[in-house]
Amino acid sequence: MEKTIIDRPATRNSCVLCAPLGASIVFQGIEGCLPLLHGSQGCATYIRRYLISHFREPVDIASSNFSEESAIFGGKENLKKALSNLITQYQPRLIGVASTCLSETIGDDVRAILKEYRKENQGSPLPEMVNVSTPSYHGSHWDGFWKTVLAVVTQLSSQEEPVRQRLNVFPGLVSTADLRHLREIFTDFGISFSILPDYADSLDSDAWDNYHSLHEGGTPLSEIRAMGRAEFSLDLGQALTAEDSASGYLAKNSGVTRLSCGWPVGINESDAFFRLLSRISSQPVPEKYRQERSRLLDAYYDGHKYMFGKRAVVYGSPEMVAAIVSMLKEIGVIPVFCSTADTDFAGIEERVIELRPDFLIGSSKGYQISRKTGIPLLRAGFPIHDRFGGQRELLLGYRGTQRFFDHLVNVVIAGVQDSSPGGYAYV
Ligand code: SF4
Repeated sequence: MEKTIIDRPATRNSCVLCAPLGASIVFQGIEGCLPLLHGSQGCATYIRRYLISHFREPVDIASSNFSEESAIFGGKENLKKALSNLITQYQPRLIGVASTCLSETIGDDVRAILKEYRKENQGSPLPEMVNVSTPSYHGSHWDGFWKTVLAVVTQLSSQEEPVRQRLNVFPGLVSTADLRHLREIFTDFGISFSILPDYADSLDSDAWDNYHSLHEGGTPLSEIRAMGRAEFSLDLGQALTAEDSASGYLAKNSGVTRLSCGWPVGINESDAFFRLLSRISSQPVPEKYRQERSRLLDAYYDGHKYMFGKRAVVYGSPEMVAAIVSMLKEIGVIPVFCSTADTDFAGIEERVIELRPDFLIGSSKGYQISRKTGIPLLRAGFPIHDRFGGQRELLLGYRGTQRFFDHLVNVVIAGVQDSSPGGYAYV
């Protein structure tokens, strides 16, 4: 597979979303946190719409609500007023302030404004405040996500906490089912852990009897403060450098050992992940995961006749694409074109028409290509807003791979069935 950079004068139908969107997901995954976008109302509305369509939960995102005047003279007073309103109306434990294109362009110094606000309100009980710079012309939602994880750890972790035998986990933009599965795995190994962010409950909650002004669940602030005193940090996905990652910051400033592995998808990556946990915990891999691995292998044998030699186009986050490609190679599928945002959907469409793969794997945003070319799309990643339950699609571990593999085989079988003149009742 050769690397292709598509040369065009403008992006059409971008594969990436805006940076404060990634920041908002991270803030939603922290206990008692309210995201506040410093910019115009439209940014918050767009991001809320996107998150609600994927997660199907109410999502509150505040805005400092720029007017023409603030766009010219700066948004300092708007931001201070927004902070006061949020504190009065929501009583959050943390306000996560992400900048937007507009506030970055005019050069508002959000960190200095927060400092000034704290000084002006000395003596009043104030929540924690974290700020992150997320201009969308300088990064995607994945960049915004990782920058926010780094900002939260940099601004909240403390050296004054006691040392703990603990594992910090930075999983990236995985599904809520993946977060729950990770919790289950670490618990089964007897590992004390903190996952940041953890939006499994806040963005995929149970039914409410009463309206909650703030989401429930999320990484406890006490655990974030203690991250600098943990023994290990684990990055899932290997796209980040030490400088860009919270684990790198903790290693450099607090001596926390930095570990990383790919998303555990497929046999090889899952084996590496479980081996790592076995080493950290000095425990053998629990029997139930050995059985899941064995069932997955058996499914690979059974599904081989459908999958071998098939050709795939995969697009999405760098972590997800790398993991899925590793798994596809295990089952004899050839990834003919992969995109992690170095092209747009217009570019992907050109390659799909040229290469005629057997299926596409990626977010809902590839649906129009699928519809136009008749090539099936297996939805994975973010956003999935044209199917129900996209926020809780399990992908990680032997169990998640099993689910994904079953869906993939069925996509191929359905294609054979649908294109056969006589149809098949038995494939
Ligand atoms: S103006 Fe920038 S920050 Fe706001 S929605 Fe558009 S891309 Fe996102």
